[in-house]
Amino acid sequence: MDHLEKYPQLVPVFQDIENIISKDVYDMWLRPAQFEFSGTTLVISLPNQYWGNTIRERYENTIKDAFLKHLGIAVELVYQISQTEVPTVTSAQDVFSANVSQQPSIVKVNPFASRLNSSYTFENFIESPSNRFAYKAARAVSQKLGARENNPLVIYSSPGLGKTHLLHAIGNQILKDNPSAKVLYMSGEEFVSEYIESLQNKGHDSFRKKCRTLDCFLMDDIQFVSGKEACLEEFFQTFNALFESKKQIVLSSDRTPQQLEWNPRLSSRLLSGITAEIKRPNLETRIAILRQKRDSINFDIGDDVLAFIAEGIHTNVRELEGSLFRLVAYCGIHGVTPSIAIAREVLADILVSNNDLSVNVNVIKKIVGKHFNIKMEDFNSKRKTQSVAWPRQIAMFLTTDLTDLSLPEIGREFNRDHSTVVHARDMVKEKIATDPFFAAEINQIILDIKSVDNK
Ligand code: ADP
Ligand code: MG
Repeated sequence: MDHLEKYPQLVPVFQDIENIISKDVYDMWLRPAQFEFSGTTLVISLPNQYWGNTIRERYENTIKDAFLKHLGIAVELVYQISQTEVPTVTSAQDVFSANVSQQPSIVKVNPFASRLNSSYTFENFIESPSNRFAYKAARAVSQKLGARENNPLVIYSSPGLGKTHLLHAIGNQILKDNPSAKVLYMSGEEFVSEYIESLQNKGHDSFRKKCRTLDCFLMDDIQFVSGKEACLEEFFQTFNALFESKKQIVLSSDRTPQQLEWNPRLSSRLLSGITAEIKRPNLETRIAILRQKRDSINFDIGDDVLAFIAEGIHTNVRELEGSLFRLVAYCGIHGVTPSIAIAREVLADILVSNNDLSVNVNVIKKIVGKHFNIKMEDFNSKRKTQSVAWPRQIAMFLTTDLTDLSLPEIGREFNRDHSTVVHARDMVKEKIATDPFFAAEINQIILDIKSVDNK
């Protein structure tokens, strides 16, 4: 975060923003900005007005929430257009702060930091057959906290399908109905790192207290608690303390409770409430989501273009949204009206990777090779050292997953027979199921593979 060099205290704030809005969106809109921070005012300098409008309309709430969460201040945002070639005589014309009042805004702060992102609500979540059960369960939970039949609520799905959105929506709804409710949103990774930190700083009691005296605990991506016995035990105790005092627990995971392979006592507790899967959205839903995002940013883009994007991206709502924003940014900056032709060009890499299911084996080898620092020829060589054998097994697994090739065909691509491919596939699958950090690494490799333009 070198654009924050002057303000190290802002690094965690902006890291959080990056996590929430995704790296792509952050890189596009916020990384190029310059910041000046003093008191409770953050001046954001940007290359043009369009840029400022975009941040104001889409990310201002997220930025404000992050400042409140990390620094406990209601930040005031001022946008400044920094065209270096046009000297700014007075900032009056260049500073625009439409919905930002000139006086520091007075925000009534619930003394308990819920860490919620107020831009994720039930109202802007599109209900569809693929998420209906999870959506209804989330609604029910927020209306009736801690009811035996709804506790815990466990939502699981592959990435980018709305788990985090629903968790925040539950929290925001609870606070809307009861502003003094104690709601805490935390990711599994935060739980692990804050727990470890609390042990080091002798802050264990306050960590415990924070997690165990809640009306509703929203924990995202609980798979990250796996693998560390002490953390899992701490989680188990937190869970029990809340559960036994009839407090609401909502959890999300990238796999089913059974696949987490936690100890049977904990697994059976996880399964004792509602377990809801979110599946991939169908075409109609994808179009509806894009329409809603278009309306929320108020940009003129035709339904035909939205349908074109929705047809090209099947698997992940985050990617769907990211594509829309990318197209909008391109059109805004170049002053052109979005069309299918422009979308095809601007989104070529993403649309191709989704349409073209048969990713090329060489691309897999190239990306895996780069990731593990091994050479292309090592994938087909007889070398058996672990530093080569393991990446090779990963590449074989990815080839079974990402291409239409048969097992014997894959064997030939790696100069091996098909039983070796089966073995590699099973080993890697097993590791993915038991090690969430490895699973995240593999997800990243898959994204890298898909983002290679392999036309
Ligand atoms: P996950 O936590 O499952 O990885 P997120 O909740 O982060 O997914 O969702 C990714 C993006 O897609 C978010 O910006 C979210 O608002 C959006 N999104 C996902 N599902 C929906 C939906 N049904 N309606 C509106 N937006 C959605
Ligand atoms: Mg998430």
